[in-house]
Amino acid sequence: MSTPTLDRVLDAVLRVESNFDVRFISEPGQRWFTKPLGGALPQNFLAILHPDDVPAFRQALVAAHDGFSCDLRLLRGGTECWINLRSYSLPAAQQYVLCIVDISMWKTEDSALRHAALHDELTGLPNRAFLKKTVEQYIAEGKAPFSVALLDLDGFKKVNDTYGHAMGDAVLVETTKRLSKLIGPGDLMARLGGDEFVLLYDGKNAQGAQQALKNVLLAVARPYETAPHNAYLGVSIGVAEYPLHGDDYSLLLKNADTAMYYSKNAGKNRVTVFALTDVNVDFSIKAAIHNGIQEGEFFMEYQPQYDMQRTIIGAEALMRWTNRDLGRVGPDQFIPIVEDAGLMPFLGKWALRYSCHQLKKFHALAPDFVLSVNVSPVQFGSDHFDDQVLEVIAETGVDPSRLILEITESTLMGSQEKTERALARLREQGIRFSIDDFGTGFSSLSYLTRLPVSSIKIDKAFVAAMGEETPDHTPDKKLVKAMINLAHSIDLKVVAEGVETESQFAFLQAAGCNLIQGYLLGRPMSAADLTHRLPAPKEDAA
Ligand code: C2E
Ligand code: CA
Ligand code: CA
Repeated sequence: MSTPTLDRVLDAVLRVESNFDVRFISEPGQRWFTKPLGGALPQNFLAILHPDDVPAFRQALVAAHDGFSCDLRLLRGGTECWINLRSYSLPAAQQYVLCIVDISMWKTEDSALRHAALHDELTGLPNRAFLKKTVEQYIAEGKAPFSVALLDLDGFKKVNDTYGHAMGDAVLVETTKRLSKLIGPGDLMARLGGDEFVLLYDGKNAQGAQQALKNVLLAVARPYETAPHNAYLGVSIGVAEYPLHGDDYSLLLKNADTAMYYSKNAGKNRVTVFALTDVNVDFSIKAAIHNGIQEGEFFMEYQPQYDMQRTIIGAEALMRWTNRDLGRVGPDQFIPIVEDAGLMPFLGKWALRYSCHQLKKFHALAPDFVLSVNVSPVQFGSDHFDDQVLEVIAETGVDPSRLILEITESTLMGSQEKTERALARLREQGIRFSIDDFGTGFSSLSYLTRLPVSSIKIDKAFVAAMGEETPDHTPDKKLVKAMINLAHSIDLKVVAEGVETESQFAFLQAAGCNLIQGYLLGRPMSAADLTHRLPAPKEDAA
């Protein structure tokens, strides 16, 4: 495994001519060469290389085009020292940049062992020893402020106990992937063991780290794909800032740990900054969502739907959230958290009411306009879902035959009797149902004939999988065609979503698809923008 994280603990950077005369040495590098051994700064890099390693070095240099990495010995202050060397060529200047990490502390016979001494085996992340070395180096270099965040997953033990250790390991690896996308080039992520991670934020004070960590909360809150059910985790985080909350490695870590426990006790899934007096600064996603609903941070966008003559016939309402701190958050991210927090029935009802009020306005311009609103399985399964829908219809006065509720196959897998009763009751009032993400759920199709469903939406993954027509590729539309035929054979209409290109449109048209939704014809947009797309109302002849 490569060790890109070593870049962050460079001991020296040199720039040398093609004959290896040294032109530049970084400041930490000057200290590294001269202290504590009292050596002199090198004039020529080859002169300080261990004679046995010169051939290997030259060979690597010739073989590599623009850079290479290898372990070598050099003489520093008269003492032999193992380094990891990375070289980059500067062809224009005919020079090389040499990046040096002192690995003498870790060098053993076997370089795999050295790596193991510094890295966690499961995730490949730097381990506790690496973290300690890095923090101590930051302090030695006089870096300040920087912050240490200690993370402990919520609900990890449950995953391990329910799904087994292999699944637990997979969750840790997945968490590593999600979080490593969120840290900056100067930051470091380490695993301490178990479900404990540390993020080291270079140059950030505690508030800066706290801000960055909100995205970490979101990333962990996304569902983990464990079989047979998704797992939902959270993360409790504690932050300590150097030197404010501790002036050495162990004190920083201890105080971050204290703050982390405060997060756990305060209800988990939040960030707490250590405070010497009163630990009370925290941020919770659930609180943010609750406030967001109250403060109008949530709103809907509408993505137009077209028939095959490209006449707009309706739209799908899609929920949006722009939070003061987090910025714009996608529904794929926040809906699982909302569900987990038990807020989905509330937010779902809000979305339906908001959408129906808007539908009423669309109807003033286009009386046949049809609006589709998404209903999550959790929302559908909540008590009195059907009552809530009918309440909103009564309140807004929309024509129920112009409302479509998009439900998923997993909604239909819930308590059957209760589901069927709710569907039948709403259908009697004129509301129609469409099966969203069709083809991605379970395979029993008998429900399609048994339940009052009027259309299916072919998931965008299938549309994308048809591919593009090129000289050597004829798109595979067999599957999509089969779905359309199946739906038509039982009198269901077909909507294709995620249509992005003209060739996809042409295939779907030839296959008999009824409605099209996708970036090709219109992205999700504000109600005002959608209104401009509606055909001008016909002049009354009378
Ligand atoms: P969905 O119901 O499958 O919604 C379609 C998603 O595809 C939307 O993503 C839409 O922006 C995106 N999309 C549309 N056309 C294209 C295209 O041509 N190419 C590509 N690549 N994508 C396209 P969005 O808005 O991010 O919503 C994601 C999911 O969040 C939705 O998937 C739905 O499951 C959920 N969601 C959104 N709003 C609500 C809501 O009000 N209630 C509930 N329960 N779920 C919602
Ligand atoms: Ca949908
Ligand atoms: Ca979909």
